[in-house]
This record gives sequence, C-alpha cells and structure tokens, in this order.
Amino acid sequence: MIKTAMEKIVIVGAGMTGASSAALLRKVLPNGAVVKIVDKSRGTGGRMSTSRSSTGKSATVDLGAQYISINSHYAKTHQSFHEELMSQGLLKPSTCVIENDKFGGEDIKQYVTPAGVSSLVKYFVKQAGAELMYDSHVSKVDVEDNKVKLTTLKGDVELCDGVILTMPVPQILQLDGSIQNLIESQPKVKENLENVSYSMRFAVGIFYDPGVTLSYPWAVKYFRDNPCVCFISIDNKKRGIENSSVGPSAVIHTSVHFGMKHIEEDKEQVKNIIMKHVKELLPDLPEPAEVKGHKWRYSQVHKSYAGEPGCVVLSNSPPIILAGDAFSHSNLDGCLDSAQSVNDAFVQSLGLDHPTNRL
Ligand code: FAD
Repeated sequence: MIKTAMEKIVIVGAGMTGASSAALLRKVLPNGAVVKIVDKSRGTGGRMSTSRSSTGKSATVDLGAQYISINSHYAKTHQSFHEELMSQGLLKPSTCVIENDKFGGEDIKQYVTPAGVSSLVKYFVKQAGAELMYDSHVSKVDVEDNKVKLTTLKGDVELCDGVILTMPVPQILQLDGSIQNLIESQPKVKENLENVSYSMRFAVGIFYDPGVTLSYPWAVKYFRDNPCVCFISIDNKKRGIENSSVGPSAVIHTSVHFGMKHIEEDKEQVKNIIMKHVKELLPDLPEPAEVKGHKWRYSQVHKSYAGEPGCVVLSNSPPIILAGDAFSHSNLDGCLDSAQSVNDAFVQSLGLDHPTNRL
C-alpha cells in the first residue's frame, strides 16, 4: 500500500509511456500534486521522435516510429482513445502507396500522424499539465526518508514521493544507488529484466530545400535483400503533407543485422555508408541539403519482460515503478497498456475503488 502523501511524482522519460502515464495519473492524483517529466534528451518523443532540419527551412522527419498500426483487438479496447487522437487531427488512416509492404495483414490498419509522430506524445504531456525538464540524465535512484531521491549526471537532485522509470530496461539496470539493492533483493525481477532485449538499427533523415521534388510512385518502400537499407519513406508524402513552402524530407532505416554489425561505430561514419547504399538503390535521388544520422541502440523490443505485465512495482513505499514498451510490446498500444498498468498500480495503492480513467 502506498502510504506517502502524493505531492510530487517524477516520470523519467518523455516518450509515449511517460507522457500517457502522466495524462492518466493526473486524473487520479490529488489536486495540486505535481507531475514532473524529466528526460536526458532535449525534446519530447523518445523513440517516437520527430526531427527538424537545422536550417529550419525544411519539413520534419520521423526518425523512429513510422506508423501507428492498430489491430482489431486494440481498435476495440483503445477505441475512445484512438478516436480522440483522430478528432484532434493527430492521427489519420494511411492512404499512401507502400511498396513491398512488410506488415500487410487484414487484422491491422495503418494510421499516420500528419504533424509527426512526436505530436502524439506532446498531446499527452499537454493533457497531463506536466512540468518538463530536459537535458537531465538521471544516473542514480535512492530511497531516503520514504522519498525517492533522483540524481542526474550533472549532480542535480530531485526529491519526490514516487517515481516511474520508463527508459529502456538496459538503462534502468545501469542506474546507481539503492535501486540496485531493490533489484538484487528480487531475483526473479532481476532475471526478467536481464532477459529483455531490443533490436538495433540506424536511421538517416534527409532534408531538401523548397522546390525540390522526389518523384517516386511510392511514399514508402521496403527493401528485403539489401545488406544495409530495409526501409525508405518520403516522410511528408507518407504523412499526406504537401506543402510547397517547405522542402520534402525522407527517412531511411537500416536492417537490424546492419545495425548490430555497426552499433559501436560513430554514427556520422555509418551515415556515410548508409547514404552510399541509398544512392545505389535510388541513383536519381537529388543531393539533399542536409543529412542527419541517428543510432537506435534500443530500437524495438525483441524480447519483452516475461508475461508482459505492463509495469513492475519495484517498491510500494515510496512507489518506484518500472514501465515502458519492454513491459508490453513496441507500439503505441503497447505503451498505452503500460501506462494503464502504471495507473492501475497507483489507483490500487491509493485505495481508489472505482478507477474512472480507463483508456
Ligand atoms: P522511449 O520512447 O524510449 O522513452 C524513454 C525516454 O527515456 C527517452 O526519451 C529517453 O531519452 C529517456 N531516458 C532514457 N534514459 C534516461 C535517463 N537515464 N534519464 C532521463 N531520461 C532517460 N512503434 C510503432 O507504433 N510504429 C512503428 O512504426 C514503430 N517503428 C519504430 C521504428 C524505430 C526505428 C524505433 C526505434 C521504434 C519504433 N517503434 C514503432 C516503437 C516505438 O517507438 C516505441 O515502442 C515507443 O516509442 C516506446 O516508448 P517508451 O516511452 O516506452 O520509451
């Protein structure tokens, strides 16, 4: 049972799980309770990241998640939530041409995010009225006087009544402080955490000046046999955006095999290797104005936490909860399942009998 007065909850990670957990918790926490989200990066989105060109002249690209794929189960169970995002114009059915579609299947419908995939995460942060703190890499988690004490790499300290850690599991296992003893004291939890694994891949975003046209009959193309490239998307076309005042943009994802082979290499060097392969595949591709590389050391969850519980309550008093797609599965609905489990854990612990805040 959570006994602490819940005045301040900190969520580590401004990705989809962190943002949707914040939005749900806001409805059950007492008025005046602060929900704060801290992230080591300089923006909202996590692996649902939308990147802007440094010149600001061009469109954005989604470097991580590309589509929102909804199967018939989640179309029912998360229906009101999907409809809310659609009514806000943040989600719409995909109508673009996909060549060599890898994920076809009657049970799954593809949706796109006209404003970029991070717009979904930002929507939840706004709903939560959460305070945001960027550029704050949490490196230590301790329990002191029934409070959670978070320490960042810069030495900043944050005291709170409960914490939700939503970073990829290997990054949870790297944390210093008394959280290590908490994990050590629960051997099954430790084993399950150590068994979680992720795929690795690189992404490259390419940006063009206004007026450039990328004339391909497709918006998205999968490459099954290339040793490096597995996916290219003309991002604005995929999202159904035609805006002549900003240039087009595209994103390239490598195969997991290529990602694993080059994972310890410098992303700038790997970016050049990837662009060589892209030019072989698309020889008439115009020269981009800007090329941005990104390394996804933790891409999609390959092996989830055993049983996919949604979250794990490492400590009840004060609450320390582990969440994220590793505790469910790697897509929007997986993150929402995790957020719902976090919420249920809080609701139960706070003794609220009838949770009204289902998705
Ligand atoms: P994350 O988004 O990883 O959020 C965790 C946050 O924690 C990050 O912002 C990180 O910066 C922060 N963090 C980490 N460590 C610390 C620390 N020590 N201190 C402070 N902050 C920290 N999903 C789909 O639905 N459709 C797709 O098409 C799709 N394609 C994908 C393609 C790629 C290349 C990738 C990488 C992912 C894809 N996914 C897709 C999966 C989807 O992006 C993830 O399931 C989802 O974004 C996970 O959200 P999360 O909040 O659980 O974790």
